[in-house]
Amino acid sequence: MSTVIWILLFVLGALTLAYNRASLLTATLVYGGGLLAYGLFGEPSLPWLIVLWVVLAVLVFLNIDALRIRFISRPFLRTYRRMLPSMSQTEKDALEAGTVWWDGELFSGGPDWEKLLSAAAPKLTAEEQAFIDGPCEELCRMIDDWDLTHRRADLPPHLWDYVKSKGFFAMIIPKKYGGLEFSAYAHSCVLVKLASRSGVVASTVAVPNSLGPGELLLHYGTQEQRDHYLPRLARGEEVPCFALTGPRAGSDAASIPDSGIICKGMFEGREILGVKLNFSKRYITLAPVATVVGLAFKLFDPDKLLGTDKTDYGITCALIPRHTPGITIGRRHFPMNAPFQNGPIQGKDVFVPLDYLIGGIKMAGQGWRMLVEQLSVGRCISLPSSATGAAKAAVFATGAYARIRRQFNVPVGQFEGVMEVLARMTGTTYIMDAARSVTAGAIDGGEKPSVPSAMLKYHLTEYGRSIANDAMDIHGGKGICLGPKNYLGRGYQLVPVAITVEGANLLTRSLIIFGQGAIRCHPFVLREMNAAKDKDKRKGTIDFDAALFGHIGFTISNAVRSMVMALTLARFSRVPETGGTQRFYQHINRFSASFAFATDVAMLTLGGYLKKKESLSARLGDVLSCMYLASMVLKHYENQGRQEADLPLVEWACRNLLYKAQEQLHTFLRNFPNRFLAAFMRFFIFPRGQTYHAPSDPLSQELVDQVLHPTVTRDRLTDGVYRTVEPTNPLGLLHEALVLSETAEPLEKRIRVEGVKTGKVTALDLPGQIQQALAAGLLSETEAAMLRDYDRRVMDIVNVDDFATEELVAGQQPVELRPARVSNA
Ligand SMILES: Cc1cc2nc3c(=O)[nH]c(=O)nc-3n(C[C@H](O)[C@H](O)[C@H](O)COP(=O)(O)OP(=O)(O)OC[C@H]3O[C@@H](n4cnc5c(N)ncnc54)[C@H](O)[C@@H]3O)c2cc1C
Repeated sequence: MSTVIWILLFVLGALTLAYNRASLLTATLVYGGGLLAYGLFGEPSLPWLIVLWVVLAVLVFLNIDALRIRFISRPFLRTYRRMLPSMSQTEKDALEAGTVWWDGELFSGGPDWEKLLSAAAPKLTAEEQAFIDGPCEELCRMIDDWDLTHRRADLPPHLWDYVKSKGFFAMIIPKKYGGLEFSAYAHSCVLVKLASRSGVVASTVAVPNSLGPGELLLHYGTQEQRDHYLPRLARGEEVPCFALTGPRAGSDAASIPDSGIICKGMFEGREILGVKLNFSKRYITLAPVATVVGLAFKLFDPDKLLGTDKTDYGITCALIPRHTPGITIGRRHFPMNAPFQNGPIQGKDVFVPLDYLIGGIKMAGQGWRMLVEQLSVGRCISLPSSATGAAKAAVFATGAYARIRRQFNVPVGQFEGVMEVLARMTGTTYIMDAARSVTAGAIDGGEKPSVPSAMLKYHLTEYGRSIANDAMDIHGGKGICLGPKNYLGRGYQLVPVAITVEGANLLTRSLIIFGQGAIRCHPFVLREMNAAKDKDKRKGTIDFDAALFGHIGFTISNAVRSMVMALTLARFSRVPETGGTQRFYQHINRFSASFAFATDVAMLTLGGYLKKKESLSARLGDVLSCMYLASMVLKHYENQGRQEADLPLVEWACRNLLYKAQEQLHTFLRNFPNRFLAAFMRFFIFPRGQTYHAPSDPLSQELVDQVLHPTVTRDRLTDGVYRTVEPTNPLGLLHEALVLSETAEPLEKRIRVEGVKTGKVTALDLPGQIQQALAAGLLSETEAAMLRDYDRRVMDIVNVDDFATEELVAGQQPVELRPARVSNA
């Protein structure tokens, strides 16, 4: 054999070993065997042979633990310790919160699909289903969104009573305390339905079930606190709010200046040891009507009255009744003309007993950990589910509207320009529904997925924003003119609220998704960091050595896997048998390897500076999110029983996401500061350039056909939307008109072709044309009646409200005009 063939064999062998993640020992043995064979059967030149033997010697050296640690790992550990960025306790708490789930697999460069596919599909119990079909349906029926957003700026009393008495505020409270104890999935489905009817009601219900007093008490409260508050919260006798952020600390909530000083004071006529609180909070949802305030503040014990040496405890949470002296509460903010209850709270020298601290004094200083831990669950449900409900409603309505609204004698949904937008709405809603339901299922399976919670919060609310815009575009003026007949405007106005709360989106994308993921989900980084900080230096060095060499092997393997899969378009990558969707699994495998490789190079070369290069880490976070969302789509398709009719949606969703992943990787490389390294990474990630394609126009057309007609796919996609046909539910009426359009359209066409074009029908509007077509024998009496009825319904939907000027003036009673007070001025 010629030398070239031997070299090829060596290269191929090395690639195979790296691709399959062979251990160092296996690689050394295989290489040694190959070298022996080359020596015996090849005709190597001496210098060439010496080089190969030196490589073997290095490999053997690396296999000897004592030598490797002494000469490589230990010296490197010293440098690593110096490089390691310092981390505050709040950052540590955030990093350690929750669990690592599918996000960890995507960081591995070779996700174990069995893990995802074997997870049980989320399912409602009979009781949960009955709640959605019963009280939830009834609540939707009772809602008059225009009345509560425009006339009252509040829920009417009977709606407040209903949500409290039926347990809408108690979905996460266990039955033994009188709550509903719903699964995360059921909780999510309730919010989907409510959000499809009213964003204000959905927000009102979401808050007590999300991060707040109920959740905190359940996990950290003392038994007395649980026994006292949980039954009262479950019965709706207490309305909670949770106050963390304020005028000086918004995104950087850990820097709140609100303080609690341990001191003695008078409480209910007795002198006791307690906490004197001074705080100023704003934007607090439900605050104006809350009876009990969950409060986050920094606890200090300057006089060491708690009997320890500690004076600064850090962030602590307490539960404080509304009427505690010193609290100012009740005024309201006006969030985007969709006025759910939200307002400021101030406290001046509010003295409360130590029993008010959630979890008692033993949880003093644990507030931040409590909050971030609970955020891992709450952030997966409230906003993602509400955004999905609103998106489903928008697609449900827009599909029907684009069919019944005709311009240029054609349903507007059939114009290519509209089709592209409607396809985007449809495919995106499928992604949202998949992500919220599969992730809720994982929570019900015991996960507390903190990185996915940030991904869902960011991407699903951004998708919600894009869908709200798209729906507006397709509806034209119909979406813009507010009034009882408008079913889009309020949802559109609420979009910035979802974007801003529970971690504002720019911050979540730039700092949290990748920043937390890179350390938390990476198979080696946290191990290296923990080993470097281990007080037992010997153990720390051994652990560090194992993690470091695992990490090096991992990076080499991912580089090879990335290149091989990019060259072969991942055709040979092993994935489960899923009938029709395997290619998407393969492409995720490819991007997972490329992402893991790029992540390692970026972290190794930029270190702590990567945190400052927010655009770079945001792009890597986008790649991770796209892979996560595409995985959710594939699992959702499996969970729904592989409905073939939904395949175009699956393809659109995966193509859209994986194309975005590719483009974000490309943009990451284009902006990587070290151009040599960027070229080096590009060689492994895009050896054939950017080969993945976005969804095509014919595919978009297939999607649009599914929502412009009353199909089963449309029903499945918009499952959960409040669609009952009744005069006050525009969505129900729209769907009814869509069903009728299937019969009406051929009749309209007959009038056009056989009537208008032949001159037998000359009227300019449809009612007149129907009359003439009837007279000319082009329509039967029944057909004419049907078409008249259809036209009446369509015009009823297309029409918008108009008002006398006085009706639009704020408030029903004259109000004293004065400037609004600036809260916390
Ligand atoms: C309607 C509503 C309801 C709310 N309900 C509650 C509640 O019930 N309880 C509660 O405690 N709080 C609540 N909040 C507060 C909410 O959590 C904060 O608004 C949010 O944390 C953002 O703070 P901020 O508005 O002060 O924006 P800022 O912190 O001033 O941020 C301004 C912008 O800068 C961006 N930004 C900040 N830091 C970074 C960074 N490092 N990288 C990139 N971008 C960054 C943000 O993303 C944002 O876009 C609510 C807010 C609203 C509007």
